Amino acid sequence: MDLETVLGRHPRRPESLLQVLRDIHEVHNHIPPGMAEQVAEALNVPLARVRGVIGFYSFLSETPQGEYRLLFSDNITDRMLGNQDLMQALCGKLWLEQGKVSEDGLVSVDATSCTGMCDQGPALLANGRAITRLNHQRINEIAELVRNHVPVAEWPAEFFQVDDNIRLSGILLDCTHMAGQALEAALDRGKDGVISELNQSGLRGRGGAGFPTGRKWAACKDAQSDERYVVCNADEGEPGTFKDRVLLTRHADLLFEGMTVCGLAVGAKQGFLYLRGEYRYLLEPLEEILAKRRAAGLLGNCIRGHDGFDFDIAIHLGAGAYVCGEESALIESLEGKRGIPRNRPPFPVTHGYLQKPTVVNNVETFCAAALVTLRGGDWYKGLGTAQSAGTKLLSVSGDCARPGIYEYPFGVTVRQVLEDCGAAGTLAVQVGGPSGICIGSHEFDRKLAFEDLATAGAFMIFDDTRDMFEVAHNFTDFFAHESCGFCTPCRVGTSMLKSIMTKVAEGHGTRHELNEVECLDKVLQQSAHCGLGHTACNPTLDMLKRFRPAFERRLKSLDFEPAFDLDGALAPARAMTGRDDARAHLHNETS
Ligand code: SF4
Repeated sequence: MDLETVLGRHPRRPESLLQVLRDIHEVHNHIPPGMAEQVAEALNVPLARVRGVIGFYSFLSETPQGEYRLLFSDNITDRMLGNQDLMQALCGKLWLEQGKVSEDGLVSVDATSCTGMCDQGPALLANGRAITRLNHQRINEIAELVRNHVPVAEWPAEFFQVDDNIRLSGILLDCTHMAGQALEAALDRGKDGVISELNQSGLRGRGGAGFPTGRKWAACKDAQSDERYVVCNADEGEPGTFKDRVLLTRHADLLFEGMTVCGLAVGAKQGFLYLRGEYRYLLEPLEEILAKRRAAGLLGNCIRGHDGFDFDIAIHLGAGAYVCGEESALIESLEGKRGIPRNRPPFPVTHGYLQKPTVVNNVETFCAAALVTLRGGDWYKGLGTAQSAGTKLLSVSGDCARPGIYEYPFGVTVRQVLEDCGAAGTLAVQVGGPSGICIGSHEFDRKLAFEDLATAGAFMIFDDTRDMFEVAHNFTDFFAHESCGFCTPCRVGTSMLKSIMTKVAEGHGTRHELNEVECLDKVLQQSAHCGLGHTACNPTLDMLKRFRPAFERRLKSLDFEPAFDLDGALAPARAMTGRDDARAHLHNETS
């Protein structure tokens, strides 16, 4: 596919930059020499911006990545299922080192952040397509297919099977909504009626922060502007979260209906679904649903015959950057830029996409908003707790018999979830992913609700055979890898945290290192630019508080040990001067 064909698939404007680069990368497995210059000229953007975007997203590269790029999902749950052994086995069979391209340029193998398949891992991405349930037999087959140059599109279909694993359903997952029903209800209620029902329902954003949805929509509607936008955040990058994957597979119509209702309520004509790059395999099915909705008069101009009600939805693919889950970073990415979080205020409801008022909600929130529009705020408010209305989808993974998706009314206890999913001997649960909270067994009667344990949905279980230090170590690696590098405290702080944990893991740590984590946390809390930096120390501190022996038994000594061996570093100088007496050594300097 040549550049003109790629450009023909997207509006020829700067906002298309990331999408154009993604398409080129998909064809060539890298951005070939000279292509960045051509793209810059075609989209009328500076070359530096093109290079900046390529450098920012982990799925893009200007150096060849091999005909086959195999990226192992590296969440802690993948590790618990043996992904490290499998990756080493594959590297061995293909005669290559992790992170390097084979000498013949055929293949590369590396790790990537959680791919959202924790309920059916270990998983990897083969040229962007998810392969689940890896085992040694499957690894052997993959090595054989690569060696025989079989295109990924011709690999066995069962490799790519992704199950929904719905274990417990409620009002959302059981919903048998017919396309257009919620929209009809919205047209009957009118703009203000829709927002009033949302306010009445008590619906709060399901991304974790819990901002009231009705208030957000009203603020966008009331902002002074001639243009407004609706954005669905389907970039669920928090390790351990995969419930949006299931909603996008099973209930995409309901989601698009919720977005369209939002378009009606706030007066927007354009919506975007920001789909995480790891869910690339969902793009065509989602496009098909959008096409059907257009054909049925549920998207496009004069929706349902109503003059002036024009709304359509475009899908924008991410390219491997966790920070784009932050709403302002996501908007930057939608604009074809590096996904760096903006200064706030102003907030997206007044200055969002292209600086216009924009509603950003996640997949689950839009689905719930469609249900509220259909069945009314009072009905919805009757579920859950006083401060947390409705239900919550949980992505349950780790040490349990039945990992998958569970839908509960808010207020369910951690203990109940553990019972339902068949978890025995549970030591700890990480609620809300690495940026959430780790709780121990004495806290299992706590409730999942905004007023107690707020969560975007990840629920990772660790039984009493697990080493919680290893869990914290994996999470610190994740934050260091995903720090976007924009602000110094986070860029340096997350890599210092990673170094501290590595030092402890290698048996060189002392109590000094553990105390350093607290100091780093204070610096990051006070000076990091966005939530990633603010929460980077959370898992380590949580686990230190609850599972300190797991850390202390790895310490070399409880006293201070410098990270740098100054006396050892002076050995060449001693040799040059011919001195090796006691006074030439630092520890004897007072003798
Ligand atoms: Fe980027 Fe980290 Fe700064 Fe956020 S806190 S802007 S992720 S460097």
